[in-house]
Amino acid sequence: MIPAASPDLQPAEGARDHAIRHRSGGQALLSEPIGGDWKRLWREAIRDPRALLSLLDLDRALPVSDAAAMQFPLRVPRGFAARMRRGDPDDPLLRQVLPLDDEMQPVPGFTPDAVGDGLSRAGHGVIHKYQGRALLVATGSCAVHCRYCFRRHFPYAQESAAADGWQMAVETIRADASITEVILSGGDPLSLATSKLAALTILLSAVPHIRRLRIHTRLPIVLPERIDAECTAWLSSLPWPVAVVVHANHANEFDATVDAAMARLRQAGTTVLNQAVLLRGVNDSVAALAALSERCFDAGVLPYYLHQLDRVAGAAHFEVDDERARVLHAALVARLPGYLVPKLVREVAGDPAKRPL
Ligand SMILES: *Cc1c(COP(=O)(O)O)cnc(C)c1O
Ligand code: SF4
Repeated sequence: MIPAASPDLQPAEGARDHAIRHRSGGQALLSEPIGGDWKRLWREAIRDPRALLSLLDLDRALPVSDAAAMQFPLRVPRGFAARMRRGDPDDPLLRQVLPLDDEMQPVPGFTPDAVGDGLSRAGHGVIHKYQGRALLVATGSCAVHCRYCFRRHFPYAQESAAADGWQMAVETIRADASITEVILSGGDPLSLATSKLAALTILLSAVPHIRRLRIHTRLPIVLPERIDAECTAWLSSLPWPVAVVVHANHANEFDATVDAAMARLRQAGTTVLNQAVLLRGVNDSVAALAALSERCFDAGVLPYYLHQLDRVAGAAHFEVDDERARVLHAALVARLPGYLVPKLVREVAGDPAKRPL
């Protein structure tokens, strides 16, 4: 199932194909002012694999798959595409988003429900799998479509917690005093309008056992203009300590616009962490992983998790085997300060927490 756009963000199917604003000499040219129109940038995302390749001067044939693009469409904000290297078919950002023939090869052990989320719903749009933490599937929408994502097969758009104005999700949380942390996830919760998120947090603020709010989002990385003045005002107003867990897999995903978004998140009083997925051909080297951690810290972000890939159908070509993952992680431990080493974990269905490798 394809994550659908949230109701207030219908993608403009025939969006004009702008000339991409490429960076030159490492300088990002795309620097929308704070409060810029992120919804417009969202609608202007690239949706055609061949348009993306042509913008990157990649005329030579890459094994782009129309079948894979039908299953899970390409979607890339233009600012993210601007951080890709022109003329490089192996660009680590391009590889994360380009639908390739590899995805359509069935591989034993790679299934649609790789992490067993189907079994863990405590209520409408709420997944209560781990002690004290309720994960709220706020929406099925994302600004970017990551080829390795297990959500590519899920009908989350139909089960999002926002569907009934948050009522059932909030009731589920209110009814269980063991829940002290609410995690907004998806999809990407920041796909929703800030006013919609504020409606949720107003309801949640009446639940006395909540102590923390966490937001799992890739938007500050792929569409940093999302962290606009309205968003930071909302974050600043929240009655709990807030953690924002962003998702970057490669140092090249950061540029000046992302640095500025991270600074705004921190100014709003949030703690910003990064989770990455270990991906073959993207970040499966000590150099790439160390550069990612160091670049995160330059932006004021601490590495949190390095996830082993969920074994989702269509993602097998991204897998790094456990032995190599451990070797890479050990090399990071030897090379980086402890606070820049993410925890290497895997999600195992039925486990009470992410499992360290
Ligand atoms: C990953 C995850 C969490 C959060 O786990 P942490 O280890 O606290 O980051 C919570 N609920 C679900 C369902 C998860 O998959
Ligand atoms: S990895 Fe995150 S941003 Fe990417 S498709 Fe999955 S949920 Fe969306």
